[in-house]
Amino acid sequence: MTDRLDIEVADAAGAANVKADPPKRKVFTRTYGCQMNVYDSERMNDVLAPQGYSVTEDLADADLVILNTCHIREKAAEKVYSELGRIRKVKEERALAGKDMMVGVAGCVAQAEGEEISRRAPIVDMVFGPQSYHRLPKLLEEAASGKKVVETEFDIDAKFEHLSERAARPVQKRPPAAFLTVQEGCDKFCTFCVVPYTRGAEVSRSVAQIVAEAEQMAAGGVREITLLGQNVNGWHGEAPDGKTWGLGRLLRRLSEIDGLDRLRYTTSHPRDMDDELIDAHRDLKTLMPYLHLPVQSGSDKILAAMNRKHTRDEYFRLIDRIREASPDIAMSCDFIVGFPGETDQDFEDTMDLIRRVEYGSAFSFKYSQRPGTPGATMADQVPEDVKSARLAELQALVTSQQTAFNASRLGMTCDVLFERKGRNPGQLVGKSPWLQPVPVDAPEALIGTIQAVEIVEIGSNSLFGRLVAGHHASNGSSHDVIKEAAFDA
Ligand code: SAM
Ligand code: SF4
Repeated sequence: MTDRLDIEVADAAGAANVKADPPKRKVFTRTYGCQMNVYDSERMNDVLAPQGYSVTEDLADADLVILNTCHIREKAAEKVYSELGRIRKVKEERALAGKDMMVGVAGCVAQAEGEEISRRAPIVDMVFGPQSYHRLPKLLEEAASGKKVVETEFDIDAKFEHLSERAARPVQKRPPAAFLTVQEGCDKFCTFCVVPYTRGAEVSRSVAQIVAEAEQMAAGGVREITLLGQNVNGWHGEAPDGKTWGLGRLLRRLSEIDGLDRLRYTTSHPRDMDDELIDAHRDLKTLMPYLHLPVQSGSDKILAAMNRKHTRDEYFRLIDRIREASPDIAMSCDFIVGFPGETDQDFEDTMDLIRRVEYGSAFSFKYSQRPGTPGATMADQVPEDVKSARLAELQALVTSQQTAFNASRLGMTCDVLFERKGRNPGQLVGKSPWLQPVPVDAPEALIGTIQAVEIVEIGSNSLFGRLVAGHHASNGSSHDVIKEAAFDA
């Protein structure tokens, strides 16, 4: 176990490259979309700390506002423009009080729309894509001189280099569960998806870079790492042995890191689930029994039109192999309803696939036409009301499966990693091995520890539990011993 009291804890402002007494300022960051954006937003705050910025949750208090955006569906982009309208009012109020406010739009909407953003919303001072945030201090300087900044270069190597420099800095105290980006971009070009255009070609970080960052995170108190990538299981990185490793091999290496007890990865593509990765689910106690493996549709015709390059039968065979390796695994998925040309029968094929697989959870979306993608101009676009009806039907099925999966945990004792205080006094919230939140009455000292918890009640998303004093977790557990001595309930 990592003794967190002995860690040299540097606050963010104590990191390298500190300029002499930068003025104290506040940054308000709003994050849209996927976990990769959450990770990027955290790194933006890291980059800004040596510039004198601390994080505020209060928009009116912010000298700098950053919207880290998502372009995956139309609604996501529209949300950004309506948020910019709200920010304009706050900026005007601050101006009346003689206070400045700089506004930046980052992420995939910035990458896709570039200058169009400051044209549509003139309050925006900086527009920068997901590969540019490490250049924020420079961009801020340019914006402060009155220039409208637009930075949408694809310089992924420079971004990864920046992340590695960060790993060489003094250890910072970190939350118990955190993300680590290992791969960015996508070469698969599914016909509905903007990612290959907004995030660029697929690039993997090297084993040395990832291990250094993971070691630093573990030293800072991180017990669970979720490896991130648009196609995370397509990761293939240069290794110290001169070979190219796949994700299964990387997970084996990361599971050797002291203090790192739990590993997850997301999001995966069915075509990249190789034997080594499936074996890792069988062999590694650190690898949690949860897998998000989107199929999008259960119809072979729609899968082909989406350019997914696999069939429903291949997906079923894959699920069988995964469940053979890890029988208790919670399967998760993404579905799109109403892709162009989807008939009632195609939709029924999707429902049939869901019934056969039985998911622990799933995300589902109405198809959204994205400009520049092949799907946007395909014939036979599905009417909105049909999409809505199909989505409601699919979500009802998935919810019933999720409820059944959660109900099957009732009475089990499992390991829970406590991450934060809960809503009620005296309550902590942690994650089960299958990724459900678990509220438990427990002392605050247990945050950052893994404890055996008996599941006593089931909510729609959560499992409610109680601490099991002196009991070793026995079901669905990644560990067979309780490692912490802090138990004093
Ligand atoms: N790489 C992952 C994969 O291959 O499944 C998906 C990553 S994508 C960022 C997340 C999810 O957004 C997709 O799985 C898909 O279900 C959904 N999505 C992407 N484009 C969409 C669109 N045009 N309309 C609706 N949903 C979309
Ligand atoms: Fe988008 Fe995923 Fe397809 Fe890549 S594999 S194009 S990220 S849906």
